[in-house]
Amino acid sequence: MDIYTLLREAFPQLETERNFSFSRHTTVGCGGRAAVCAYPRGTEELAILTDALGKKGIPYCFLGAGANVLPQDGFFDGVVIRFSNARTLLTVGDRIAAGAGVTGGALLRFARENGVGGFEFLTGIPMTVGGAVVMNAGVQGGHIGDLVEQVVGVEGGKVRYFSARECLFGVKESVFQGGGIAVAGAILRGVPRPREEIGQETARYRARRAHLPKGRSMGCVFVNPPEISAGALIERCGLKGANVGKARVSELHANFIVNEGASGDDISRLIAFVKREVRRKTGVLLREEIRRIP
Ligand SMILES: Cc1cc2nc3c(=O)[nH]c(=O)nc-3n(C[C@H](O)[C@H](O)[C@H](O)COP(=O)(O)OP(=O)(O)OC[C@H]3O[C@@H](n4cnc5c(N)ncnc54)[C@H](O)[C@@H]3O)c2cc1C
Repeated sequence: MDIYTLLREAFPQLETERNFSFSRHTTVGCGGRAAVCAYPRGTEELAILTDALGKKGIPYCFLGAGANVLPQDGFFDGVVIRFSNARTLLTVGDRIAAGAGVTGGALLRFARENGVGGFEFLTGIPMTVGGAVVMNAGVQGGHIGDLVEQVVGVEGGKVRYFSARECLFGVKESVFQGGGIAVAGAILRGVPRPREEIGQETARYRARRAHLPKGRSMGCVFVNPPEISAGALIERCGLKGANVGKARVSELHANFIVNEGASGDDISRLIAFVKREVRRKTGVLLREEIRRIP
């Protein structure tokens, strides 16, 4: 029995989609297909689903807005779990409880409407709350981990609550990387701030992003090493514009790879080439920020 039929029989209520396209649901726009995509409604359904998949030995992976991932080519005979049915937003004072599938835009609008400041640095970052927590998304000036009071996760079929300390946030890092724990939602703590001030801060952060390359990408491919930006290092090695097939190191920002119609494999090979050349010319080993799925 194929995975789709098996899931339909075991979970008739579960929202599912057959033959899921990674290229249509990621910002980089490449990769193959997956047998099924599932959209659990709520933490309990997520816990039961991941538990059942684990016990049956069916592989699965999580996907948010798909803004920091490089999907592999070919067919994934497994389940992609997305969080579009987990979009609850609640506020109590300066705290916001957000489901994993809440997008950055929705979170920022909600914070502003409710006079909760401190989220403005997330302006323009393509994200869901789940993906942003996993990646500790942010910019110079703030990271989502700084706002986290608690994360609701699902691990081994059980709901688990993580304090900010237990999340082990680091530079583009958290305990949730590795795929063993699903982020179901988070309680984020801001500060009371008048709406006009939030608007001004938002505009300031938006202006800072004007120089970023347009087109299909995963954002920054590499984490900045200490004391120099990865982009500056790649540029210094003369790699702006370098390409493998239709994957190209951006001329505007060397830490971006733009996809002009490449496969996942082309992009992977370009990443390996950039790493090799930077290592050879400068001795620095770049760490990848992007996550490979499945
Ligand atoms: C143009 C552009 C600009 C960008 N600028 C920035 C920037 O300024 N700062 C920055 O930090 N990032 C930036 N990024 C990268 C990206 O926006 C962030 O990393 C963002 O947090 C990714 O969120 P997502 O929902 O898309 O996660 P995805 O890319 O979908 O997933 C990222 C990882 O998290 C896992 N995952 C997703 N959701 C869950 C969940 N609920 N539970 C468990 N695991 C999950 C995935 O399996 C994957 O390993 C940029 C990307 C682009 C394309």
